[in-house]
Amino acid sequence: MTPKATPKGEIFLERRAPGRPHEGKVLAAIQPHSDDMPIYSSGTIAKLIDEGYTAYLIQVTNDEKCGPTPSFGETILANERDVEALAKVMGFKQTFYLGYRNHLMDEAPAVEIRARMLFLIRALKVDTVFTFNPWGHGEENPDHWITAQAVEAACWMAGNPKDYPEHLAAGVMPYSVREKYYWTARPGQPYNRVVDISDYIEQRIDANRVNQAQGPAGSQGSRLRARLAAQGQYLPELGNDDDTADREYIRLFCCTAARELGQQYGVQYAEPFYHVGPAGSVYGFATGEEVQAYLDTHVRPLK
Ligand SMILES: [Zn+2]
Repeated sequence: MTPKATPKGEIFLERRAPGRPHEGKVLAAIQPHSDDMPIYSSGTIAKLIDEGYTAYLIQVTNDEKCGPTPSFGETILANERDVEALAKVMGFKQTFYLGYRNHLMDEAPAVEIRARMLFLIRALKVDTVFTFNPWGHGEENPDHWITAQAVEAACWMAGNPKDYPEHLAAGVMPYSVREKYYWTARPGQPYNRVVDISDYIEQRIDANRVNQAQGPAGSQGSRLRARLAAQGQYLPELGNDDDTADREYIRLFCCTAARELGQQYGVQYAEPFYHVGPAGSVYGFATGEEVQAYLDTHVRPLK
């Protein structure tokens, strides 16, 4: 049984939208490691690109600790090639490599990481971000929360013209992120939004398959098929060639939570997120729209 994420409050089921309602909007997937975005949100991002979003990929670390050989150099290169393949298969417009050292992001000043995120949000005019939950319990990988906390603060600060005013002089104007889809990455982390990805499961499989250097998917299927064959065995689901074996392995073993969550919400496959909508006012105060609505019905002419 796959460990479960935890529903929090009222759950919104985001379905496929007809047409291209997000035309003109920009999203950024901000991942510390090459396998993060594919594991947690490749179905949803494929859906949002199909619905009109322009998407950018921001690769935060150099992934030097997760790869196929003991060599740091080969590991970095293998991951970089995987990220390039990932961007292509998903349809990202551009990839930015920030190059922080894997598992050692706290070597870098937090303020520098935040400032680089802030600049990218402004320059790319990012409306929506995907990243880890900055306050996600059970998180063991420091790159995850360091990235997420820098992103969360940058989303808000990027809209303030007094932060880094030299950007404005250079023509890079303030811009506020309106929506955050935080990944539900560990058992027990909360979600309040479930996205129906049933029509995008093949893209989710493509995205996980290009992760050859690390991650739970890649070529595990063809390797398992070869190992079974060496023992005089076969698993019918893995088919008769490596391509089918890789894809069907991912469908069987790397979409388990997506399948179970989907069944829970009446769709075939789904991905969970802790979604944070457009910032309103400070808690407990009326929003600008609420103040205006009150004025519209209560203001009287001067005598
Ligand atoms: Zn990661």
